[in-house]
Amino acid sequence: MRLSQMLFVTLRDDPADAEIPSHKLLLRAGYIRRIGAGIYTYLPLMWRVLQKVSQIVREEMNATGAQECLLPQLQPAELWKESGRWDTYTKAEGIMFALTDRREQQVALGPTHEEVITYVARDMIRSYRQLPQHLYQIQTKFRDEIRPRFGLMRGREFIMKDGYSFHADEESLKKTYQDMYQAYSNILRRAGLAFRPVEADSGAIGGSGSTEFMVLAEAGEDEVLYTEDGQYAANVEKAVSLPVDAKPSPFTNYEKLETPGTETIEKMCAFLKCSPTNVVKNVLYQATYDNGMTVLVLVSIRGDQEVNEVKLTNELTKLASNYGASTILKLAVPDAEAQSKWAAKPLPLGYIAPDIADDYISSPFTKGGTEGGTAPKFLRLVDKTAVDLKNFATGADTAGYHVVGANWNQQIKLPDFTVDVRKARPGDRAVHNPQQIIQSARGIEVGHIFQLGTKYSQAMGATYTNEQGEEKPLVMGCYGVGVSRLAQAAVEQSYDKDGIIFPVAIAPYHAIICIPNISDTKQVEVAEQLYTELNSSGVETLLDDRNERAGVKFKDADLIGIPFRIVTGKALANGKVEVVQRKTKESQEIAVEDVVSTLKQWIEQAIK
Ligand code: ATP
Ligand code: MG
Repeated sequence: MRLSQMLFVTLRDDPADAEIPSHKLLLRAGYIRRIGAGIYTYLPLMWRVLQKVSQIVREEMNATGAQECLLPQLQPAELWKESGRWDTYTKAEGIMFALTDRREQQVALGPTHEEVITYVARDMIRSYRQLPQHLYQIQTKFRDEIRPRFGLMRGREFIMKDGYSFHADEESLKKTYQDMYQAYSNILRRAGLAFRPVEADSGAIGGSGSTEFMVLAEAGEDEVLYTEDGQYAANVEKAVSLPVDAKPSPFTNYEKLETPGTETIEKMCAFLKCSPTNVVKNVLYQATYDNGMTVLVLVSIRGDQEVNEVKLTNELTKLASNYGASTILKLAVPDAEAQSKWAAKPLPLGYIAPDIADDYISSPFTKGGTEGGTAPKFLRLVDKTAVDLKNFATGADTAGYHVVGANWNQQIKLPDFTVDVRKARPGDRAVHNPQQIIQSARGIEVGHIFQLGTKYSQAMGATYTNEQGEEKPLVMGCYGVGVSRLAQAAVEQSYDKDGIIFPVAIAPYHAIICIPNISDTKQVEVAEQLYTELNSSGVETLLDDRNERAGVKFKDADLIGIPFRIVTGKALANGKVEVVQRKTKESQEIAVEDVVSTLKQWIEQAIK
């Protein structure tokens, strides 16, 4: 491609609405243009990068025996109602774009394809002899993200490779999961990224596990906890650790004390001269279930610990059937407005006790406000860190008062459900080896592989007949890579003050030839010759034949991050051209006749 003919516009200044380096650079270098919130045009340079990433993904997937297909983006609501996800995706997180068509039928734009593929499997798979199967596609996904940001990192329209596998049993699923683990590692290594596979939350679906592939970068939206020995890495949502030991309690007698102005743990500990580890803190949440039921949840946890809301959501999902519901739609700390809908009287905020009286909740249905009513009793959960405490301090249920020296089942009844919902934190000791201290890093989730089990096949009746002639639900796995997110993550990991440094394997072009002075016929002649030779021998080459100053051309070549820059300048006097490596800025003169073979060799080395 000749730059003189390409729709190629670079920006000198950082665009105002871009926050992170990769987003700024992709905009400035003319890879993408914003059309609306989370909606981008992939310009010709970007499209080449995306195709290269897709090709690496395709090669690694095909090598495992997975089959490429293309599923519809327009998905009938019935499928999502069968799986039970219509409400969660249109109401709760509300990330699915849903609409009503001219026949008054509800349809949605696919945010993911479990429903569609399970429908296909139900239709086509009959016997164990057809198993296992693994289908994948590379396609645009639609998600009405709450906070679209950082360019292609979190778009509302983005490219994903998603694959779904079907098995007769868990063992077969595990094998494919392992193959995917390897394939994903290969994809990221080949794309030139530094990454870390981490244990991830599988939600309340259960399943035997999931792994996220994190590209390590400051701008990452995820927090990864890991140990230096390399034995442990997990998303903070899922991570476990050992809490520090509790300090001995300074309280010996049970008493109720006036503690004015001590709504926070910090103020309370200063006032009572105790450690936060001597305190049982009671955190109030409001859960909304899919049948419209509102449940007030009180989590009692040790004062120095935080609640991990992902773990809490999983626990509450397990308890959904107690409320005649199947899943949780929303979990929030109720603000004053939310409280006003169900509180019979003002809550003693900052002084709530684990056994707060249920009559703070107005009797259901009398106080309208919530659709399916409010459960008349608090759902009381106690975290493991609080269960073992002796002589602890906690709220007295009266504003301005705490109790100290309390013990479970003496003065205060131990809550009904003991759970593990504490947030692991950097500085904690690791479970696998308490000598190892948990560290923290930021990561960009580029891939997620998942053992689904029979959640969708059971809900949608996708079964097969096993060797014994019995009908069994298909065992499933699913595997996703964010192709467009991965491409931007590569930039986030590799740039300098002059611009992008694309890894050779996914750079839009391998080389760019700059003609310093287009009125010099010799310069133009050699450049044209090299341009033809390089491209015909597989070295993808751009020709900067614009009528611009050499400085402008060099700056643009650096900005767009093409790995090798060839300059047909002064060295031509000796039959040579200057070749500059983008990454190291190393420059050398190479005889014109050696350019093709040298570059071919460098490229081969770089993408091995
Ligand atoms: P996140 O937690 O970042 O929202 P997710 O858990 O919703 O991701 P999956 O449903 O597992 O993501 O999708 C598979 C992959 O698709 C992710 O690992 C990520 O690389 C990519 N992806 C997900 N949402 C987006 C988005 N809004 N924009 C770009 N890529 C995305
Ligand atoms: Mg998401």
